[in-house]
Amino acid sequence: MTGKRIAIIGAGPSGLAQLRAFQSAAAKGEEIPEIVCFEKQDNWGGLWNYTWRTGLDENGEPVHCSMYRYLWSNGPKEGLEFADYSFEEHFGKQIASYPPRAVLFDYIEGRVKKAGVRDWVRFNTAVRWVEFDEDSGLFTVTVHDHAKDHVYSETFDHVIVASGHFSVPNVPHYPGFESFNGRLLHAHDFRDAREFSGKDILVMGSSYSAEDIGSQCWKYGAKSITSCYRSAPMGFHWPDNWEEKPALERVEGNTAYFIDGTSKHVDAIILCTGYKHFFNFLPDDLRLKTANRLATADLYKGVVWVHNPKLFYLGMQDQWFTFNMFDAQAWWVRDAIMGKIEIPADKETLLEDVRERETREEADPDTKYAITYQGDYIKELVAETDYPSFDIDGASEAFFEWKKHKAKDIMAFRDNCYRSVITGSMAPVHHTPWKDALDDSMESYLQN
Ligand code: FAD
Ligand code: NAP
Ligand code: MG
Repeated sequence: MTGKRIAIIGAGPSGLAQLRAFQSAAAKGEEIPEIVCFEKQDNWGGLWNYTWRTGLDENGEPVHCSMYRYLWSNGPKEGLEFADYSFEEHFGKQIASYPPRAVLFDYIEGRVKKAGVRDWVRFNTAVRWVEFDEDSGLFTVTVHDHAKDHVYSETFDHVIVASGHFSVPNVPHYPGFESFNGRLLHAHDFRDAREFSGKDILVMGSSYSAEDIGSQCWKYGAKSITSCYRSAPMGFHWPDNWEEKPALERVEGNTAYFIDGTSKHVDAIILCTGYKHFFNFLPDDLRLKTANRLATADLYKGVVWVHNPKLFYLGMQDQWFTFNMFDAQAWWVRDAIMGKIEIPADKETLLEDVRERETREEADPDTKYAITYQGDYIKELVAETDYPSFDIDGASEAFFEWKKHKAKDIMAFRDNCYRSVITGSMAPVHHTPWKDALDDSMESYLQN
């Protein structure tokens, strides 16, 4: 132990990457600080830790989970594979490219079980407040241990916020919502597409949740899907019973009216209108306020809080890459904390780094550019640490192919397979096309 104490908030993929980063240094014989990870749920895995609950959980905490039954990865697993723990190592064989949630949960958990870091996590413990004291240079973290129903505080040299940003829903109001005669919910509370079988549904939004929740409802027998966009249509070749419309204007009874003057009878409205970066445990001087974009505001190297470089954030970017990007960030943050990487003392230098990232992101709206941009960011961080280097351009290629496969057939893109950039082996074709695979269990997915 170095005498330092580190608090990690959240044991989702980002927080777990941080645990693995420190454990891997310890395994090499390095002295590491004391690590305490606070997780409000009773298990790790973050969004991948599924619960049927919505609203408040058994402890009265807001339910974190935004995932739902039958959710399969929406991008190829070859784009997110851990460089230090391949799918083949975990499953003992190569598996198909778009695993359902339970399979990815198992994979995420496999690495940290192997690392033996569960004791570093205090489960059922919600972080209530964090404060920084200029005189001592320490953070005081106040938490609620729900198992003991006990509130207590401890001090730390560093805090790493890994609480995610796809959990607190952005819920707009439209005229008539208060008297809508059907079911009205946000994607965060969507759990089971079978509820909507035989129904006419409206999904609002034109991003991943709208696409995927609409597709789930289609797969499990909705009568019709209408999706409506505020900025731009998704523009895929939709099935016959899926229609894309411009923005919603108002609702009357069970009728939705759109700004082009058309209307549609709907039984349910699902608001796929995104999420907020929301940190109710942080005071103004420590709290990240950012749009959901690739170059987050106020984070040097995408992770260091420029207004107090003892505070770090993981995974706050909009995400093409996920698990491997969190790894790159976690290894980098570990090395900054352990003094192997120097954070410039001059605040202007930190702010200049943020500005440069923003300008570069804004230079080109093209999707391929954005994927490459985030891949380059991972390369930059990996080069400064001992995270195993891997073929990031190859992973980007998987994303480029994925984009083409979606454009070709939105209900069949998950039937494609890609080559692992970690082991070099090709994923097998899944035994059942996605649209016909109604059983999303791990047992079913792993059958040959
Ligand atoms: P999270 O997974 O959100 O984990 C944060 C953790 O912090 C949670 O365990 C939470 O309980 C805990 N926490 C929060 N507040 C507190 C507090 N105050 N005190 C203590 N603990 C707290 N990515 C992919 O790569 N592929 C996909 O197919 C995919 N599908 C997705 C589907 C949906 C519906 C959503 C919303 C996201 C999806 N993602 C997907 C992206 C997802 O953001 C990442 O995969 C990943 O879960 C992010 O990890 P994280 O650790 O940063 O955050
Ligand atoms: P998002 O990407 O932030 O998109 C939000 C959408 O809501 C945008 O289309 C936005 O429109 C729209 N919107 C916001 N406010 C609105 C308003 N007031 N009125 C109308 N429309 C409004 O959020 P998301 O789609 O929920 O995706 C979040 C994350 O979850 C992503 O990382 C995604 O990959 C992940 N996800 C994965 C899966 C899966 O793996 N199967 C499924 C779902 C989600 P504008 O474009 O006009 O801003
Ligand atoms: Mg390296």
